[in-house]
Amino acid sequence: MPIHLNDLDVVSEVAGLSSALIVPCNMCPAVTVAVREEKPFIQFFRSFLKSAPFEQYIRALQSRLKEKGVNTKVFRSNLYHQWFLCMWTSGRRKKLQKYAKQHEAVIVLGCDSATETVRDSVRSTDCKVIEGMEVAGIMNAKLRFHLPCNVSFEDCKITPISQQKKEEDMSD
Ligand code: SF4
Repeated sequence: MPIHLNDLDVVSEVAGLSSALIVPCNMCPAVTVAVREEKPFIQFFRSFLKSAPFEQYIRALQSRLKEKGVNTKVFRSNLYHQWFLCMWTSGRRKKLQKYAKQHEAVIVLGCDSATETVRDSVRSTDCKVIEGMEVAGIMNAKLRFHLPCNVSFEDCKITPISQQKKEEDMSD
């Protein structure tokens, strides 16, 4: 099941910057937002391979950043095999490097592995890497298909990652 993520304070991280490239992972973050808003993850007939709640989340983030004087673009990964930042090809990483050079920062929407992919891709640039989300745990949910052609996650529980759980138990 996907990783569940919490939002981080991106706005304070971009203070003083004028441009940023948002790099979203289209899997776990999109599922996280859909579950949080209790909306379908995908509605194939309405938005095909885009998750509408996550698209809205990204647009809202762009508006918040714009209010702070930060212009943003989104590095889109529309093809299914590009959705998972943890498994990007070297070609995809090179493309991100090229786009990132035109911005002062990259904002990663994904887990630590997503951030690692982005760091690796932009290593040779001056871009600041900003984490837009942090891992909260692993999701346990029931996958549900419903008409006309929607995919949702229901009865979601967040299971702590083993190391997190050990640390929590030790601090009790
Ligand atoms: S990079 Fe992280 S958030 Fe994205 S699909 Fe892989 S595990 Fe999930």
